[in-house]
Amino acid sequence: MSDDLTDLYQELILDHSRRPRNFRVLPNCNRMARGDNPICGDNYTLYAVVDGDRVVDISFQGSGCAISKASASLLTETLKGKTIAEVKAQFARVHDMVTTGHTEGDMGKIAALAGVHKFPARVKCAVLPWHALVAALEGGAKTVTTEAEE
Ligand code: ZN
Repeated sequence: MSDDLTDLYQELILDHSRRPRNFRVLPNCNRMARGDNPICGDNYTLYAVVDGDRVVDISFQGSGCAISKASASLLTETLKGKTIAEVKAQFARVHDMVTTGHTEGDMGKIAALAGVHKFPARVKCAVLPWHALVAALEGGAKTVTTEAEE
């Protein structure tokens, strides 16, 4: 990755952490779940409106580090309008990207998180909102914690 691209990605992450998109409660949501990363102190609630098999709206609220907040913000922008199957497929690609640095296909703005793989302690921060969203869509656990995985 060139230094220019790294700078661009850092700017994107800072921008999304300072001015998170879709940072609000969705009063008409029919799916929601909390994500908790006690190691870093990241704590978010993801809200979604699902119509059939499509996620028509996503928002989040909460607090945490710049990586987790930017990841949640990018997630809401990227996944709105996708089907549940597409969301799960994208989560798998993002998980792979932040753990290995490998990107598959056009990741769009989410590619800004690729550099996280160089900081293993921050991987949980990056995937936390994704875990919470998938849990919300599956309608199972209402709270996911990074300490329950692996
Ligand atoms: Zn964090």
